Amino acid sequence: MEIQVLPVAADQLRQPPKADYGFCVTFANRMFTQHYTRDRGWHDAKIEPFAPFSLSPATSSLHYAQMIFEGMKAYRRADGRINLFRPWDNTRRFNNSALRMAMPVVDEEEHLAAICKLINIEDEWVPSQADASLYIRPTMIATETMLGVRAGAAYLHFVIISPVGPYFSEGFNPVSVYITDAYARAVRGGVGEAKTGGNYAASLFAGEDARRKGYSQVLWLDAIERRYVEEVGAMNICFVYDGRRIVTPSLTGSILPGVTRRSVIELGRHLGYEVEEAMIDVHEMLADVKSGRITEVFGSGTAAVIAPVGKFGFHDEEIAISDGQTGPVARELFEHLTDIQYGRAPDPFGWVYTISPNGH
Ligand SMILES: *Cc1c(COP(=O)(O)O)cnc(C)c1O
Repeated sequence: MEIQVLPVAADQLRQPPKADYGFCVTFANRMFTQHYTRDRGWHDAKIEPFAPFSLSPATSSLHYAQMIFEGMKAYRRADGRINLFRPWDNTRRFNNSALRMAMPVVDEEEHLAAICKLINIEDEWVPSQADASLYIRPTMIATETMLGVRAGAAYLHFVIISPVGPYFSEGFNPVSVYITDAYARAVRGGVGEAKTGGNYAASLFAGEDARRKGYSQVLWLDAIERRYVEEVGAMNICFVYDGRRIVTPSLTGSILPGVTRRSVIELGRHLGYEVEEAMIDVHEMLADVKSGRITEVFGSGTAAVIAPVGKFGFHDEEIAISDGQTGPVARELFEHLTDIQYGRAPDPFGWVYTISPNGH
């Protein structure tokens, strides 16, 4: 793949913020784009100025949500080089999402090479501040002008990047989670396993409902029995029993297979925890929180890495977890994972991919 690199006009060039990045408030000066048509395949790969797209109001993805995305981060090492974390896993998942949404796959090597090239060109947008990072958002949308309901014949694949601050700006604080059995996010056989926008659209109403009740996130149960724990917003969920056994819901088809989730399973075992994937009954789980058998609950995802859960709401009940404090297992996993991501600790798993300054 030849990637054409276009200049940014001098009066359009923006400087990255120096601190207080927030979450994806500003985007780097350039983005990656390429187009797909049935007869030409992927073509016209460019690194070009970050700018609005021009789309027909009849563009199919605006109507029927045929789109997918990914989320990963680049981390500045102490030696100035840049790490990606398990980028092949995100790339494979991007293609799995594409297949599920009847979209064309991308070449995995080329996709990752394009991301590395974009980051190298926009190097100054990768923060050096402790615990800040660069958020990478690969996306694909159907671009055919058509209101018929069928898979599109044309697609746009793009990657935008944005510096992000530490997820927990006031420190590593527990979040509150409302368990809903009134609404469902995804059902087995549906698209819950794919990183596609519709899953988020489907979650917004329950999210607003939870916020009105004073909670920041929603915990979803399986859509059929409304009984088995699935995941939280944009995070998978883990329970710690007796301080030494970590249990996370099995991937049943309606849960997003998180890269952080898999890393928690592998790192947890490496650190000597018993780790299990299982069906978790919400009533048993809440009884175990109340009895103190469950000592910690935390979410896992690229944005927060590990997010301790301090309390659950369910119907009219409020249930505190480990006195609303951050537990030792969440802290240990958070520190270990972020040390590997920033290159501060050895990486026995081969998870880290260091971008070379001249190529990928
Ligand atoms: C992205 C995402 C996750 C977390 O996946 P990571 O690869 O760990 O970032 C979990 N649940 C949902 C619904 C997601 O979209």
